[in-house]
Formats: sequence, C-alpha cells, structure tokens
Amino acid sequence: MESLTLLFFVVEVNFRKLFKLRGLFNSKHMRPASFSVFRPLSLKEAVGVLSENDDAKVLAGGQSLIPMMKLRVFSPPKLVSLQRVKEIQPKISDEGGYISINSLTTYEDIAHNGDIRQKLPALAKAAGEVADQQIRNRGTIGGNVCHGDSAANLGVTLLALGATLVIEGVRGERKAGIDGFHTGPFSVALEHDEVVKRFEVPYDNSSKQTFMKISKTATTWPMASVAVNISVSGSTVAKARIALGVAGPTVLRAHRAEAYLEGKSLSADVVAKAAELAVDGLNPPSDIHADSEYRAHLLKVLTRRSLESLEV
Ligand SMILES: Cc1cc2nc3c(=O)[nH]c(=O)nc-3n(C[C@H](O)[C@H](O)[C@H](O)COP(=O)(O)OP(=O)(O)OC[C@H]3O[C@@H](n4cnc5c(N)ncnc54)[C@H](O)[C@@H]3O)c2cc1C
Repeated sequence: MESLTLLFFVVEVNFRKLFKLRGLFNSKHMRPASFSVFRPLSLKEAVGVLSENDDAKVLAGGQSLIPMMKLRVFSPPKLVSLQRVKEIQPKISDEGGYISINSLTTYEDIAHNGDIRQKLPALAKAAGEVADQQIRNRGTIGGNVCHGDSAANLGVTLLALGATLVIEGVRGERKAGIDGFHTGPFSVALEHDEVVKRFEVPYDNSSKQTFMKISKTATTWPMASVAVNISVSGSTVAKARIALGVAGPTVLRAHRAEAYLEGKSLSADVVAKAAELAVDGLNPPSDIHADSEYRAHLLKVLTRRSLESLEV
C-alpha cells in the first residue's frame, strides 16, 4: 500500500511538472513571431535571395537562431534555410596540408571523423564537447562561427588553429582568415548577402594542440574556454597560437603569451608565466555564472592545464 501511495505521488508530481512546462511552451514567448522560409538549392540562389531581401536571415542547424526567435530576442520575418544547398552539404576532406570542412558539417560529423581526430584533435574535442547529443546532431560548424558568440567551442578552436573561411556572395567567392572575422559580440565580418561555404583548417605534423573548457554542467555553455596550438622544433616551441573563449566581446588571441613561448621549452615555470601573460590586462565579462575576476582566474588555470597536457 505504501509503495502504491509513493507511485501515485511520483506520477502526480511529474504530471504537475509536465503541465507547468507545457504552459511555458504555450506562452507567447516560446513561439517565434511568424516568418517565411526560402529553401534554395544552390549557393548562387541563396546569396541572390539574401541580396534581394534585406530582412532575411540565414538558417543553418537552427540551434542558436531558433531558440533566440522563440524567446523573441530576434524576429527575422524571412529565413533562408541552407539545408538543401548542394555545395555546402556536410563534407570533410584532407587536401594535403589542410582539412576542408563544408559549412553544414555537424559537430557530430567533426567529432567522429578519423582525419580530424588524427590531425586536428583539438577540433574533434571541441566539437564533441558542444552541449548535448541532440544539439551536436543538428548544429553546424558554419553556424557556430557565424553566430559570433565568444563562448563558441569551434570559434575559439578555429582561431587557435588559424583557419581560413571561404565565403560566397553576389560578387563571387573570397577567402578570409579567422583573425579579424569576429568583430564584436555576436557580430562577424560578413556582408548581408554572404554565406560561409567552407573552412580550410591547416595541420602540421609537429603541432600539439588541445581544447579545454569549464562549464557548470557538461551540457551547458562554457564559463571559460581555451584552445592551444603549438608547433615544436626539437623540444622548443617554434610557433604558438592560444585562443581564449568568454574572455572579452569576441574570441581573443593571447598574443603576449604566444610571443613569450616561442623558442622556449615548456617547463613548469615557462607554462606558469605564459598562463599569467594570457590573462594580463584582460577584462572578461561578468554575468550570473561568473564575475570578471573569477573568469580571468579560470582562463589562467585553463591555459596552464592546456599547455601542461601537451606531450612536447
Ligand atoms: C542549450 C544549448 C547549449 C549550447 N551549448 C553550446 C556550447 O557549449 N558550445 C557551443 O559552441 N555551442 C553551444 N550551443 C550553440 C550551438 O553550438 C549552435 O549550434 C551554434 O551556436 C549555431 O549553429 P547552428 O548551425 O545551429 O546555426 P543557426 O542557429 O542556424 O545560426 C546561427 C547564426 O549563424 C548564421 N549562419 C549559420 N550558418 C551560416 C553560414 N554558413 N554563413 C553565414 N551565416 C551563417 C545564422 O544566420 C545565425 O545568425 C548551444 C545551444 C543550445 C541551444
């Protein structure tokens, strides 16, 4: 009898939770304002639609844009879905010296690809640690970088890896380095009619790299993240790139730490000094998850741990 009462209690509580949740979803703010969708089949068609519709917005995996539209943070009246565009369908290929990744390639594709796991392990790790399985199945590399969030796992990692973006617009194709692509909070250097086609990510057999983040739970956005990419010559650092996430308005490079590391061996003292330089003068944002000082501390710890983890 006691266990029956307990069962009834559990069912009752869960039903109440369910109704509460459904009420939330039914509320005005969990439904986007009305919008129309274009579904072009080619890039030419996609950029043509964008150039003729100033109020249209590109939709890729929808894992940032749709939640923002549901919360009405943002209400574009027209979406240009990239899902059927043939030139940017998920594809990863080793082009000898760099890996080419089409912009609709998902986190799941990247995390499990053999070439990426072997030649760009930091990228495989960063993709495998985005949110949860459902989001990794849908979210794309193009959306992650173009959303322009300073917390984006792939945005930080591609900055450390020195990726190049191949971009299509009505005026044709152009290439842009990832340095300078992030121009401000949620803002990137793309014209309204431009779409990112693919990423070219260089690899180097002497490179040691990793991505690390600290989140409150495994599936939530990082409070801080770091990607490091070191080329070694013998036992010394030939070239270093260190990128910091949630450290400022955009993903940022730790230029002073990078310059300090070059020509040095990664001894405990050198690593500790580089970690200090990475956050020296930094003013990370404060929010409900972490204040600026604590976030700077996390970034320093992550830089140190990342460098320590490299087998040089
Ligand atoms: C609960 C939750 C937790 C998350 N946690 C993390 C996390 O820990 N780490 C992380 O990195 N991300 C996280 N995300 C975000 C997720 O990574 C999104 O997938 C990503 O931000 C956007 O990718 P998307 O393909 O879904 O793009 P969309 O949401 O479709 O688009 C995002 C933006 O990019 C633009 N865009 C997309 N593709 C292109 C293109 N090819 N050319 C030009 N512009 C383009 C769109 O116009 C839009 O402005 C989380 C999301 C949710 C909902």
